[in-house]
Parts: sequence; structure tokens; C-alpha cells
Amino acid sequence: MAANWYPVIDEAKCARCNSCVDFCAHGVYEPGPKVVAPHACVEFCRGCSKICPSEAISYYGDN
Ligand code: SF4
Ligand code: SF4
Repeated sequence: MAANWYPVIDEAKCARCNSCVDFCAHGVYEPGPKVVAPHACVEFCRGCSKICPSEAISYYGDN
């Protein structure tokens, strides 16, 4: 579990499809989407970014 790695949504690119909300099994997101539990994100997981159709997800901590 990570405070130094969590998704950041580019609101300008996001299509609000909520696929990331449905995909993540760790409760990081709530519909919107909103990142509501960044500490629950798994360090170095890129699952939600890979399934985002708009390439709108990057990660805090990804240098
Ligand atoms: S999967 Fe991508 S486009 Fe869809 S809601 Fe999430 S960030 Fe937005
Ligand atoms: S990176 Fe993985 S754990 Fe973190 S929000 Fe996306 S799917 Fe969930």
C-alpha cells in the first residue's frame, strides 16, 4: 500500500466512462471518477492506466 504512488486523472482527457472505477479492486476510486483512497493504491500497479481508453491516468510518484 502506497502513499507515494497513486493515480492522477487528467480531467481534460477523461471521458468519465468510469472504467477505472470498475477495474480497480482496491477501492481507490469512487464514481466520477474521483481518487478517494490514494493510500489503498498498490505501488507500481498500472492497471487502471492500461484500461483507460483516453490515456488520462498517470501516477504520482512515477518519475
Ligand atoms: S478510465 Fe480513463 S476516461 Fe474512463 S473515467 Fe477513468 S480516467 Fe476517465
Ligand atoms: S494503479 Fe492499480 S491499485 Fe492503483 S488505482 Fe489503479 S488499478 Fe487500482
